[in-house]
Amino acid sequence: MHEAALAENILQIAQETAAASHAHKISAIGLKLGEMSGVEVEALNFSFDVLKKNTPAAEAELKITRVPIRAKCNKCGKTFTVAHYNFFCPECDGILILQSGRELLVEFVDCE
Ligand SMILES: [Zn+2]
Repeated sequence: MHEAALAENILQIAQETAAASHAHKISAIGLKLGEMSGVEVEALNFSFDVLKKNTPAAEAELKITRVPIRAKCNKCGKTFTVAHYNFFCPECDGILILQSGRELLVEFVDCE
């Protein structure tokens, strides 16, 4: 995952959102990150802090919500939180189908 490119994308989305609502300042950006999205939060925060300088988002904070990996068994239909990337059902050895955990999206942009 290229956190710098991702930070640039997030910043662009935030700026477009702010422009659309005629706001001059972005105070916070909400992000949803799945545990399987492969994003390193520290690297993302670092890149974002560098890129946001001299933009309307200069004082904006990234508010990150982590989404756990959830998967459903294709045999017994039970839903589990996946740990250690084990995609076999702990109860019946069926195969777990991913339901969440790959999320990588801007959830909200707070403007002033
Ligand atoms: Zn099962």
